[in-house]
Amino acid sequence: MIKVYLKQKIAPRIANGHPWIYGNEVDRIAGNTEPGDLVEVRFSDGKLAGIGYINPKSQILIRLLTRKLQTIDEAFFLNRIKLAWQYRQKTGYTENCRLVFGEADLLPALIIDKFNDYFVIQTLALGIEKWKPSIVKALNTIFSPKGIYERNDVPVRTLEGLEQQKGFLSDPFNTQIIINENGLQFNVDLENGQKTGYFLDQQDNRRAIQHIVKGADVLGAFTYTGTFEIHAAQYGAKSVLGIDISEQAVTQANKNAELNGLSHICKFEAMNAFDVLKDWSKEPPKYDVVMLDPPAFTKNRENIHKAVTGYKEINLRGMKLLRNGGFLVSSSCTNLVSPDLFLSTIDMAAKDAKKRIRQVVFNAQSADHPIIRGVDNTNYLKFLIVEVSDR
Ligand code: SAH
Repeated sequence: MIKVYLKQKIAPRIANGHPWIYGNEVDRIAGNTEPGDLVEVRFSDGKLAGIGYINPKSQILIRLLTRKLQTIDEAFFLNRIKLAWQYRQKTGYTENCRLVFGEADLLPALIIDKFNDYFVIQTLALGIEKWKPSIVKALNTIFSPKGIYERNDVPVRTLEGLEQQKGFLSDPFNTQIIINENGLQFNVDLENGQKTGYFLDQQDNRRAIQHIVKGADVLGAFTYTGTFEIHAAQYGAKSVLGIDISEQAVTQANKNAELNGLSHICKFEAMNAFDVLKDWSKEPPKYDVVMLDPPAFTKNRENIHKAVTGYKEINLRGMKLLRNGGFLVSSSCTNLVSPDLFLSTIDMAAKDAKKRIRQVVFNAQSADHPIIRGVDNTNYLKFLIVEVSDR
């Protein structure tokens, strides 16, 4: 294996366990490597940093797979996926879960979502793409799945010089499946749904609205397939309106409401949430609960201030749509906006809306997407419930 030597002055990040090594942290590469090859990484004093995959096309030059000198082969990946599965079993995520959450499972750039007997894979770096056959084999060995699907139709792959692609990694199967969550059923479109088809990271947070929605008039914006809204109806909301800009998502959401026998309470419409929030916040408030779960407003650091402005605006308007003493349920899924920044943005929104807010719940994503302390991008989801009162 080719050895890569790090500069003497590198960020303590690497020694402290962060798996990424940037090009400017490397002193020399002792030989020729092909993009995606495994390399042995050494600190400047010759001590082992670990083994990882290298890709000069990527800003992240090397992603470490292990801190030990060990053989990386099919058995290595089988073992890592078994360990990931053990963690989900121990923490109570078995039916549907993020089985592998990349860096947090010591499998950088690999995502595997489990939807009962079906699996969706994303290999987001060249180094892990090369091991896709071993990963599929490991899933077949551990789970004997009914189907495995690849959702590599994501733009981040181009940063690694990879094509965007999707398709079967098993015999073809019907990619429209139904999953159970918190006693409800949801249609999931593994082939054409957003991301891997379903947002598993909010599965615990959907239960967090249980008490506040009883008897309430609820508005959900950025609803996708209506998961939060259908939970609200099930938990006893009086009326629920969900809004998403995607016609496809709205069709699926209405189908989901019907599937659960809740379409008399829960309706979905295809509209631009920014317009709706803007227009309706000028009218007298008519909701008891407003739920916002927008997409990431930015994918790069340069635009964080724009993202913050966006979060502030929708949350301020959301607060104005609430009757006195109502609840705002607000999420943010970009890791570039830290939990502290998100909370202070909500504070600014409350100040400008002249509201007093009382924090009910503040969570991250569910524990099948574990946060590795020190690896900031694993701590990405913010989920907040506040009670909103007139001052
Ligand atoms: N709450 C959902 C996930 C929402 S993902 C769940 O738990 O499953 C964000 C959603 O925002 C996507 O469905 C996307 O179609 C929608 N969206 C993006 N821009 C929008 C806009 N301007 N107005 C309304 N919806 C929008």
